[in-house]
Amino acid sequence: MSVTPDPDCIFCKIIAGELPATIVHESEHAVGFRDLDPQAPTHVLVIPRRHAADIATLAAQAPEEVAPLFAAAGAVAESEGLTKGYRMVANTGAEAQQTVFHAHVHVLGGRPMTWPPG
Ligand code: 5GP
Ligand code: ZN
Repeated sequence: MSVTPDPDCIFCKIIAGELPATIVHESEHAVGFRDLDPQAPTHVLVIPRRHAADIATLAAQAPEEVAPLFAAAGAVAESEGLTKGYRMVANTGAEAQQTVFHAHVHVLGGRPMTWPPG
């Protein structure tokens, strides 16, 4: 798959191996690695190899990348043993606390979750 990394994007750098990360999943379309600042016993970020600012943008630009992203998130939940449940979160935009503008799904689990989120 041919993709153009964004030279200013830290997640593109992680995919390229230019920044260290604890990678727990690699597939043709997606990469999963542990969050630097975990908010749960399991906190993995699952990202498309293709750079897009957020998942909605990815869906608009490359819809064929979206299903593999969520499939990868499910595979991570399974390999992490999150049999009791887990949460997939996609913060989108500044008011929703998105801080890295490369599409990503947080896979959070290993503790009870509350709803609604803060
Ligand atoms: P957002 O707030 O955009 O939804 O999530 C970005 C996430 O990326 C945050 O949970 C943050 O802790 C994580 N993060 C930011 N920089 C790095 C990094 O260099 N390495 C890793 N592994 N996680 C990062
Ligand atoms: Zn990127």
